[in-house]
Amino acid sequence: MVSDDPEYYIEGVLNKDKRIIAKAITLIESALPLHQKIARNVLNALLPRTGRAIRLGISGVPGAGKSTFIESLGTLLVNQGHTVAVLAVDPSSQRSGGSVLADKTRMEKLSTAKNAFIRPSPSGGTLGGVARKTRETMLICEAAAYDVLIVETVGVGQSESAVASMVDFFLLLLIAGAGDEIQGIKKGVLEMADAIAINKADGDNIQRAEFARKQYATALHYLVPSSPAWSVKVLTCSSLDPENKGIQDIWQTVLDHREKFTRSGLLEKKRRRQALDWMWALVEEGLKDRFKKNRSVMEQLPGVIKAVDTGRMAPTAAAEKLLFSLDNGRTVSP
Ligand code: GDP
Repeated sequence: MVSDDPEYYIEGVLNKDKRIIAKAITLIESALPLHQKIARNVLNALLPRTGRAIRLGISGVPGAGKSTFIESLGTLLVNQGHTVAVLAVDPSSQRSGGSVLADKTRMEKLSTAKNAFIRPSPSGGTLGGVARKTRETMLICEAAAYDVLIVETVGVGQSESAVASMVDFFLLLLIAGAGDEIQGIKKGVLEMADAIAINKADGDNIQRAEFARKQYATALHYLVPSSPAWSVKVLTCSSLDPENKGIQDIWQTVLDHREKFTRSGLLEKKRRRQALDWMWALVEEGLKDRFKKNRSVMEQLPGVIKAVDTGRMAPTAAAEKLLFSLDNGRTVSP
């Protein structure tokens, strides 16, 4: 049963009631206009209570050990008295289960911890849509006083930059490969990282992990750092219980970055820029949506596509014609 009273959600979130927090997030994820309206009211009311958490993004290819690492880091943080929310951005995930966080049992210990909240990726839709829902979910979690937000994404495609643009610190989780340490990872993704951790540095893999660490540290000299005020750290770790090696060092790196960026005002600056970027992304998404729902555009579209396809109309002229129709046409549905 969905309550249509925003107060119900606002109070529940502020009271850290996990069941109501989950319901509020479900509203955010819903496509129904009524749900969206309630969600907007809830978010607006909670906005002054947001912004206090450490926002940490984690990316890595499937199998790199993201969920094992988050289980390990999350447990460490909860034991240190933190409250941790784990969210995800995975545009490929379906309602029936995707590749990231669909299977909650992957973080068995953390999912049962009182001071942890785990939410799988919103499902379906474009990357922009999924990322927007996760951003809004972050705000709900901050209002519920979670002080560390971990946003996980799978290291394939565009989702890394979506996550990097919503967090304070972006950690890239890698594993030592057979000599292809550098080639396998796109340069652009490396440049987004504030730290790189070579996971699975245990057993007979320790030397290979150390070798990979050195290679990445060298490679970073030739890349543009994510911020001139921060030199990207390359570390090794083992997320397997009971080893949990290097996890505390990685957290300390996040804290060092936090301290430095807060003191210099860079954190605030970064978040302000992210807010503006987000606004523009929403404007872009809204414009595209309006374009697709515009009656006049829809009427013209088949003819224009055919004309371009058969070479009777230049793409520039076609685009101009459609945009002109957008200005004059009415929107089909709200
Ligand atoms: P994800 O797909 O990135 O979330 O990766 P998972 O966390 O599911 O881990 C993939 C596999 O790697 C699992 O079998 C884990 O047990 C294993 N794994 C994860 N972290 C470590 C580690 O630090 N050391 C070792 N030896 N195995 C690990």
